[in-house]
Amino acid sequence: MSSLIPPYCELKGEEIVAGLRGIAVDPRDFVAYWVYLSTRDPFAVLVATLLSQHSTDRKALEVYRRLVQVVKNLSPASFLNCEEQELAEILRPVGLHRRKAKLLRTLAREVVDFDLKALSNLPTFEARQRLLRLPGVGPKTADVLLLHLGHPLFPVDTHIARITWRLSWAKRPCYEEIQKVWMELFSPEDYQEAHLRLIQWGREICQARKPRCFTCFLRICCSFAKEGGGLKNSFWYNGG
Ligand code: SF4
Repeated sequence: MSSLIPPYCELKGEEIVAGLRGIAVDPRDFVAYWVYLSTRDPFAVLVATLLSQHSTDRKALEVYRRLVQVVKNLSPASFLNCEEQELAEILRPVGLHRRKAKLLRTLAREVVDFDLKALSNLPTFEARQRLLRLPGVGPKTADVLLLHLGHPLFPVDTHIARITWRLSWAKRPCYEEIQKVWMELFSPEDYQEAHLRLIQWGREICQARKPRCFTCFLRICCSFAKEGGGLKNSFWYNGG
């Protein structure tokens, strides 16, 4: 366990997973997860993750479904056969549509001869380095795909970063440091479930502007709640 987790916090990783099960998760709210469950196609997961950047997963899923209708079978080659302008129009609802259309075609060109499924057989570090060399693929996108391919990685999104920061379990708001906290806390077989549920926890409970600390089982270990910031916000949120 990370040394930054305070000694008074008696919650173990499996207890945190159990606590997070208090919130429902709908796969349609996690576009990369939904696409992986429906296709098992790593390129489609990359596309879905790129669509969701600076957008919501629901919007990204709508656009993804539209792409499936227009860009047949969503292979890299089919993206290269699609006009960039036509692609940009389809992507308009997820924002930054021209940039994303250009990026998707550049990515398609890079991976047209790249067997992304083979990444599951590589050592995790090497698979991650290969993905990080691709255009538009940052640590979170790489980790989301690699987690689906069976690598023991814990992707960090903005909700997970905020929760970790409020708990004071990371010294700096740095991707790798936050990732390490959760990877040490949870068992690898829990990474996928904990990742999804922690994001949902951030969306519904540890919200950016109005954290609902009074309903949060993590408050017994949370600096933010102990210092009163969260509780004040919660009472204000409740109109109390
Ligand atoms: S107690 Fe409040 S600030 Fe802490 S993790 Fe829960 S909701 Fe977030």
